[in-house]
Amino acid sequence: MTTITRFAPSPTGRLHVGNIRTALHNWLLARKAGGRFLLRIDDTDAERSRDEFVEAIREDLAWLGLSPDAEERQSQRMDKYEAAFDALKAVGRVYPAYETAQELELKRKIQLSRGLPPIYDRASLRLTADERAAKEAEGVAPHWRFKLDHEEPIRWEDGVRRMQKFDPAQLSDPVIRRADGSWLYMLPSAVDDLDMGVTDVLRGEDHVSNTAVQIQMFTALIAAQYPAQHIPRFAHEALLVGKEGKLSKRLGSLGCDAFRERGIEPEALIALLARLGTSQPVEPIADRTHLVETFDLSTFGRAPAKFDDTELERLNAAIVHSMDFAKVADRLPKGMDEAGWHAVRPNLSHVGEVEDWWKLVTGPIEQPEFSDEDRAYLAQAGEALEWGEDPWHALTGKLKETTGRKGKALFLPLRQALTGMDHGPDMAELLPLIGEKEARARLERAGTPPRS
Ligand code: GLU
Repeated sequence: MTTITRFAPSPTGRLHVGNIRTALHNWLLARKAGGRFLLRIDDTDAERSRDEFVEAIREDLAWLGLSPDAEERQSQRMDKYEAAFDALKAVGRVYPAYETAQELELKRKIQLSRGLPPIYDRASLRLTADERAAKEAEGVAPHWRFKLDHEEPIRWEDGVRRMQKFDPAQLSDPVIRRADGSWLYMLPSAVDDLDMGVTDVLRGEDHVSNTAVQIQMFTALIAAQYPAQHIPRFAHEALLVGKEGKLSKRLGSLGCDAFRERGIEPEALIALLARLGTSQPVEPIADRTHLVETFDLSTFGRAPAKFDDTELERLNAAIVHSMDFAKVADRLPKGMDEAGWHAVRPNLSHVGEVEDWWKLVTGPIEQPEFSDEDRAYLAQAGEALEWGEDPWHALTGKLKETTGRKGKALFLPLRQALTGMDHGPDMAELLPLIGEKEARARLERAGTPPRS
């Protein structure tokens, strides 16, 4: 059976690190199994869902290199949910409930004050046909609950949490549809997973109790409507938290676009999120195939995964340092060739900084004020400069011999004269890029006493 996974964001905001991680893991799971990865837009909540976010989700996934094999939208599948609802109603697994939000809240408070778990008491389920008719005659439109079967134990072998067991009598019958006819998350998601043949549901552990309820929904839907389908496998990963211990507001609201604007490479984010919270080492792995091959749910831990921005920056720098010219060519300043990229790349934490370093080559540069002694030394360097295969080593070798200078005294004034900086890319790589004519001009300028 082909593995089919899905990433099911609600288009109510941009993707944040938590969503990106879920999308990535579903993508990796599908790719490793040679299966399919679906994007399902959970937009049943018409009020909060926005088309601009659907577009942003697509863009972010494309930027991350996690393009789906197919896309579905819940808002276009309402007839499926209606049919499933009718089928479940026909077998007595859906019932109308008439309590107002305030009544439910009051019931919960009473239960809690008595030390009881706040489980829905099924008062509406016990109403007679006459009582229901009376409610409706009063103009109370019901919302709808899925009736859990208290005799059917709930258990599944979770891909991360191992064996999970729930007693259905300890769960509330979930509301699946509001009085205005709109859908809550629970039923459409189960219908879609069956209808799309999803084999693996991998999501955050905040969904564990939804899964418990949905397992019974799956069973009921398979019996009523989808005899050829199976309940998917489930895996719930530990939540992602900030360094300080919880998914802070900042991290939770930090969209994918913010990383992009900050100059984070998608590969860095992917390398971090692929292995964060697993027993495998987080490394600057830019090769997707390697991440796919080594992806393994059994290495996922139960403790919250800690997202650390410093680690992301470190990975980003490492990834930039090994990035091929072809990969960045269209983001480089005009005229910068492969040799230029290779010379400058080790100095970058973000590709965007390349502009500033490249100015050292193209000029103009600003030299510091040199002492008389250094000025004489630099004038001498201008004369000693010979342009061959490796002008930098030829020049410094010669100057070392003729001037007796070594170390910093030998190198620093040259670097300052040739680049205007105290540090930077390897001079042996940089000098040929600056070129003979410009290098001579810079040394000459540095060696000339200022006009007083
Ligand atoms: N739209 C749901 C969410 O974003 C999807 C959960 C799921 O993967 O089933 O939480």
